[in-house]
Amino acid sequence: MATLKVQRPNGTKDVVPSQMYKWNTVEALVKSHAEAYGFKEIRIPTFESTSLFVRSVGDTTDVVQKEMYSVSATGDEGYTLRPEGTAGTIRALIENGLLNDGLPQKLFYVLSCFRHEKPQAGRLREFHQFGVEMAGTKDPRADAEVISLAKSILDVAGLRNIQLNINSIGCPECRAQYQQALKDYFTPHIDKLCDTCHTRLEKNPLRLLDCKSEICSEIAKDAPSILDHLCDDCRGHFEKLQGYLTAMGIEYKINDRIVRGLDYYTKTVFEFVSEDIGSQGTVCGGGRYDGLIETLSDKPCPALGFGMGLERLILTMENQGVEFAEEESCDIYIGSMGDAAAVKAMQICRALRADGVRAECDVVGRSVRAQMKYADKLGAKFSVVIGDSELEAGKAALKDMKSGEQNDIPLDDRFGSVFNALLISRALEDDGLEDALGGLLSE
Ligand code: ATP
Ligand code: MG
Repeated sequence: MATLKVQRPNGTKDVVPSQMYKWNTVEALVKSHAEAYGFKEIRIPTFESTSLFVRSVGDTTDVVQKEMYSVSATGDEGYTLRPEGTAGTIRALIENGLLNDGLPQKLFYVLSCFRHEKPQAGRLREFHQFGVEMAGTKDPRADAEVISLAKSILDVAGLRNIQLNINSIGCPECRAQYQQALKDYFTPHIDKLCDTCHTRLEKNPLRLLDCKSEICSEIAKDAPSILDHLCDDCRGHFEKLQGYLTAMGIEYKINDRIVRGLDYYTKTVFEFVSEDIGSQGTVCGGGRYDGLIETLSDKPCPALGFGMGLERLILTMENQGVEFAEEESCDIYIGSMGDAAAVKAMQICRALRADGVRAECDVVGRSVRAQMKYADKLGAKFSVVIGDSELEAGKAALKDMKSGEQNDIPLDDRFGSVFNALLISRALEDDGLEDALGGLLSE
């Protein structure tokens, strides 16, 4: 039978072990910051009822119209792989009664999202988002806090040239007026607009500002500004937010063209854009969605959040030459010659691992030479080889793989404590401790 060569689906990625340290770095970074800001982690299903996304993301959006992966199994229809994290998280907030549990509720997540898009750098069909949602406050201080969290993460990640763009897209009242102004503006250009924008003009003219087609975006340049149509409440909210950002030393630019790709936004919308990853430059996008919870639960509850694309974050860090936390390598390789020594190596390994030491021994049946080659490949910090004579003497030579320095180490219960103390002294670069250990090692 011919072998079947199966490749990963277009627009998906494998993260091989040698690249995992980048993911571990950014995931640890976003989680620690979210926790510092008081957000609690939530996990939600990978798929949800399609109607959830249609109702919350909006049926005139690209996401709902073109990008959803709907899944079905026999007798089990109407589900879609989540294209974003907000809808599912808000559903879970409502369904689990968390909104009765003290407000604001502050949640964060790291999850995969699925969108049927044209794959390119920074645009995948399966990608990962870190996101936060805060429910139960309409105060602009919350907007400032959420923006401040995203900004802290991008700063600590070491990114430069990241621009924060903010805008207000108003509330249903003032937006209705603005939608009419947009309709009046675009209608004379109707023949030049793309097909999708014909529908948008009819159903939701605001979406025209988010169209990626060249002609539509060119026409959109001179469209009226939402900022000239905000009601007093929305204008006051936007001004207060700007005051808080300034007070926190967060630089921003007002960009009245940002509407964001999802229908649920109201008032504040924002994006952090990088100039270093080409046209897919939006690393983080978010805003307020004061009407969403009511749409899904009949109970009004203002809320806001953002989503940060982790592939784009990593790509920007790579392009800017930012250092990721170093990958941890093997602490010690315990080589052996002969059956009795192999058993000893396994026993020592087991004890060391119980103490959290990254210890390895031969599980293949290789020669000592091949074992040492493998230890090199693993990047082991130390190695030791046990044979009959070492077993008899009850000690073996522990080798520092970097300096080549060797010291005897007892092959009994003391092995773990001596080795751990040595590792700590190396980590602290404490020569005094190492001298003291030298005495212990040569006892
Ligand atoms: P874009 O305008 O680039 O299509 P979007 O407005 O569709 O982005 P959101 O729905 O707000 O993006 O998602 C939040 C973040 O998720 C984006 O800022 C981006 O970093 C990331 N993201 C969105 N779509 C993709 C994708 N297909 N591949 C990788 N990351 C993505
Ligand atoms: Mg998009």
